[in-house]
Amino acid sequence: MSQQIKAEIKRLVKLIRQYNYEYYVLDAPSVSDLEYDSLLKRLEELEKEYPEYVSESSPTKQVGDYLRLDLEEVLHAYPMLSLAKAFSFEELKEFEDRIYKAIGRLPSYVCELKIDGIASTVHYEDGLLTLGATRGNGTIGENITQNMLAVKTLPKVLTSHETMEVRGEVYMSISSFEKTNEDRKKKGLTLFANPRNAAGGSLRQLDANITKERQLDHFAYSLVNPEKYGIRTHEELLTQLKKWGFNVNPEYRVCPSLDDVIKYIEEYTEKRKTLPYEIDGIVIKVNDLALYDEIGYTVKNPKWAIAYKFPAEVATTLLKDIFLTVGRTGMITPNAVMEPVLIAGTVVSRATLNNEDFIRQKDIRIGDYVRVRKAGEIIPEVIEVDYSRRSPNSKPYEMPKICPACQEPIVKKEKEAEYCCVNPACTGRKIEQIIHFASRQAMDIEGLGEKQTEILYSLGFIKTLADIYRLKDYRFELTQLERFGDKKVDNLLQAIERSKENTLDQFIFGLGIRFVGSKASKNLAKRYQSIDELKQAGFEELTNIPDIGGVMAQSIIDYFKNDNNLRLLEELKFLGVNPISQKEEGIPQIFSGMSIVLTGKLETLSRDEATKLIEERGGRSSSSVSKKTSFVVAGSDAGSKLDKAQALGIPVLTEEEFLAKLKE
Ligand code: NAD
Repeated sequence: MSQQIKAEIKRLVKLIRQYNYEYYVLDAPSVSDLEYDSLLKRLEELEKEYPEYVSESSPTKQVGDYLRLDLEEVLHAYPMLSLAKAFSFEELKEFEDRIYKAIGRLPSYVCELKIDGIASTVHYEDGLLTLGATRGNGTIGENITQNMLAVKTLPKVLTSHETMEVRGEVYMSISSFEKTNEDRKKKGLTLFANPRNAAGGSLRQLDANITKERQLDHFAYSLVNPEKYGIRTHEELLTQLKKWGFNVNPEYRVCPSLDDVIKYIEEYTEKRKTLPYEIDGIVIKVNDLALYDEIGYTVKNPKWAIAYKFPAEVATTLLKDIFLTVGRTGMITPNAVMEPVLIAGTVVSRATLNNEDFIRQKDIRIGDYVRVRKAGEIIPEVIEVDYSRRSPNSKPYEMPKICPACQEPIVKKEKEAEYCCVNPACTGRKIEQIIHFASRQAMDIEGLGEKQTEILYSLGFIKTLADIYRLKDYRFELTQLERFGDKKVDNLLQAIERSKENTLDQFIFGLGIRFVGSKASKNLAKRYQSIDELKQAGFEELTNIPDIGGVMAQSIIDYFKNDNNLRLLEELKFLGVNPISQKEEGIPQIFSGMSIVLTGKLETLSRDEATKLIEERGGRSSSSVSKKTSFVVAGSDAGSKLDKAQALGIPVLTEEEFLAKLKE
């Protein structure tokens, strides 16, 4: 294990160094910032867990990296640090907690836009610009004085004869970036990937005339030794910089609390799209400068500031492996094992690949770089392959044709994309079925989660769903198991007993009938009072229930044709699991199983009201007339639906007749 960790750290360090070189020296990164940030975060985590493997020259301990050899070096009297990053609001809260620990109270902050450009420092003597330098490795930068003189919005002469060092960001506006790339295209030159790279490439030019042509801009945000000028807060600092003639980004805001910081971030997550320059986050700084020394610094970052990086919904990462899983219905899903990557604030290392067709269509291969999306709570999904980064040795993926749990052959039904394990004794399927049955939306048996189910299954206590209700006979044996003390066992047994009181829809959902989700289970439980009633339902009748289509109806019928399922239901009934649905009392189900079409304008009812009246009485409101339609309710100006009903000989009711029928 330790050798593995060591090798992983070595690999990450090497990769990050290579990316640093491409980014800082060549101004031509080959990976996105997100991909880079994910690797760095992973390295930070590993180093935190295994400090014995951390080297002093690790990129986690260094600002930037390489310096260009053809530019003169400048020694920074005061180091130019980087910023710690936060990828979620929780991480901002942790940042505040650390500050609270250091100073014993909550500070006030200033939020600024994190301009996506090049950090620079400029020295003025008696109000005249004398030296400009890059951040470099934080201690030594590159002399770019001539280039800084060519930056449009950087003052060359200040409004006062001060001597000072000011830090800020040189950036390229989106319009200049587009113009630069247009010019390059005309000249057949390679295009800059983004304004940040364009600014970098334009600033570190030996010929300052090129810098001038490129139309760069500057925002100042920091001053060395501000106390020398009587400045006490960051807000005052920004105001003073403006007075001296610097361009200060106007969007900054004093935020008295972290809640205000979060509001600012939310606001600018939207507004950023309308800004004339690119930003890659929000910088949050403690406002009171007197607190800086107390809060302190790491070798790389001040602890009184942090950069919140905007979350991305999509990220690119390495697909390291593909493995199969089997679900409760036997469905086989291929899944991706990926280099951990940050998406929407969390680190993701697994994603679904849906099925074999999906992999084939996109020609997804192990070793590929893939784009992954995470939307809301859904399992992350691989959306496409970056073919430009494919290794020439890669081979198309061949999906194994055996179940990962029971090793039996898997089969694919006609017209279905998914392979299935059809072995009724498949351990993987059984365990998944039990986990699903006990899950919150189903029978909600607390204490019977994934781990417990696996243990109880492997020890033979639970082999079928019915066995769950026999566990009480093994109380003593259970209390002797590791992880299952007296209290835990009693709680579990009580939760199992309580589950007998659950509703019919929870039970139907828990049975795991293929395609029947929780919404369909609710609709079934509205229509039928018990499993025995549902068992009798025919295809037509089922498809008349809202949201139940042909595939689902057939699956329900197939479920009740299977002897094993019937036996299981009998056993469950015998053990006291036979929920009876809470039918909406008082409303007679006069439209039970009927399909009713509403057409034209009704006088006293809206469409929604009429639909509700039908559904409450067990019927289904359908949008088109067919042979299956029970009757049509026609209001004024009824059109083609009325004609079709008449042609098919389907009864047509007026609104009045419909209302009278409701009273029957
Ligand atoms: P950083 O650029 O994320 O943050 C620090 C910098 O933010 C400062 O040096 C300053 O230049 C800038 N900044 C902008 N607005 C600011 C403001 N208002 N106040 C203070 N500072 C402000 O950190 P870093 O360590 O310099 O660089 C790492 C970043 O560069 C990462 O976010 C990473 O994504 C990117 N990077 C990408 C690659 C790649 O291959 N894609 C390689 C290396 C680095």
